[in-house]
Amino acid sequence: MSVKRVTVLGATGSVGQSTLSVIAHANAEAASADEPPVFEVEALAAGQDVQTLSKQAIAAGAKLAIIADETKYADLQARLAGTGIETAAGDGALAEAAARPCERVVAAIVGVAGLRSTLAAVQAGNDVALANKESMVCAGALLSEAAAASGAQIVPMDSEHSAIFQVLHGRDDLEKLIVTASGGPFLDTPISELGDMTAEQARAHPRWSMGLKISIDSSTLMNKALEVIEAAYLFDVPGEQIDVVVHPQSIVHSLVSYRDGSVLAQLGEPDMRTPVAFALSWPDRRIRTAVNRLDLAALSRLDFRAVDDEKFPAIALAKQALAAGGTAPLILNCANEAAVAAFILGKCGFLDISSIVRDTMEDMSHSGFGSNKPTCLEEINAVIAEAQRVSDRLLAKV
Ligand code: NAD
Ligand code: MG
Repeated sequence: MSVKRVTVLGATGSVGQSTLSVIAHANAEAASADEPPVFEVEALAAGQDVQTLSKQAIAAGAKLAIIADETKYADLQARLAGTGIETAAGDGALAEAAARPCERVVAAIVGVAGLRSTLAAVQAGNDVALANKESMVCAGALLSEAAAASGAQIVPMDSEHSAIFQVLHGRDDLEKLIVTASGGPFLDTPISELGDMTAEQARAHPRWSMGLKISIDSSTLMNKALEVIEAAYLFDVPGEQIDVVVHPQSIVHSLVSYRDGSVLAQLGEPDMRTPVAFALSWPDRRIRTAVNRLDLAALSRLDFRAVDDEKFPAIALAKQALAAGGTAPLILNCANEAAVAAFILGKCGFLDISSIVRDTMEDMSHSGFGSNKPTCLEEINAVIAEAQRVSDRLLAKV
């Protein structure tokens, strides 16, 4: 088995760090068995955090380190001087790095900011381990077409999609994809109290330790809404065939139900190192992780309940965006990014997040946006700019 070259985009984030820990663990195991390393790190990229990035690049023996924020380039060069590690800066360099030949590009940048590099990796024919769900939500058709053209495989790293990918066999006999949701920190908070919730309260996820934006998305169930759209594009299944069920323990990571009544699920501790290891190892399952093993007897029960759509309108908005097609999911995503950023800064309330998303979608569909399928990154960028403008205008009113 030859060494697998891996590039990690968003290396300094929560998923990026889990990825580097899985890689280090697998290589350490191989070394102790006197075997050659399993992985080699090709490139590491981050947005702004040069300190963490340079430490990671040295520890992992990366060939290249890229910082998206060009104002941080001199600092990165200084920190890596004399190490032999190449350096680069800017979005263009990041996209070029994503296209460098390797066996896996881990797309773990947060938000639509990850789209250009995800697309560059796929277009170059690199297999992509996809955590950056926003790129699939914003450009699902474009990414799928690019993958079909280049032969790249998109292997999901999001835990729910990893679960579905592992238990989905064929499509003809498929009845439903069932995506599980922890329900977030406000699962049992009365709707009357939601308006007062702060970003500090919203980010305190009960099960998963994650970056700030996805933690807020989990509190509104917008994360699940994005995941419904992500699943629709990744697995080419219409929105009507995708259900969401609340499962507070986050042990069953998602399920697929079939025509004969069988339901297949994937289970495990809520720990990203498992879907990370799977996405790095695929098509085999060679990577051992240090994840705690599931103790079903100790767990004793698994709970499930329906989503409260009145309290959490996000999933219905996602279904609506999928039904509308075209750029509607892109608009939903960008309005959410704008609203979450405003919420974190205390510029809008918790309940405003989903109303800004809904109103931006409505406003833009009235002005003729939404129905056409975008065919290139330039078209997508124009819609992103317009969605940002409309949601900023709506945010200024709250
Ligand atoms: P995070 O905020 O912890 O990390 C984000 C990473 O992206 C950082 O390395 C940051 O430097 C980089 N970044 C941010 N803006 C950038 C830009 N403009 N250009 C280049 N790099 C930029 O986020 P996270 O929790 O690791 O999530 C990353 C992605 O993975 C998100 O799309 C999220 O939805 C998805 N995801 C996360 C988890 C999780 O457990 N954290 C699980 C499933 C999916
Ligand atoms: Mg997920």
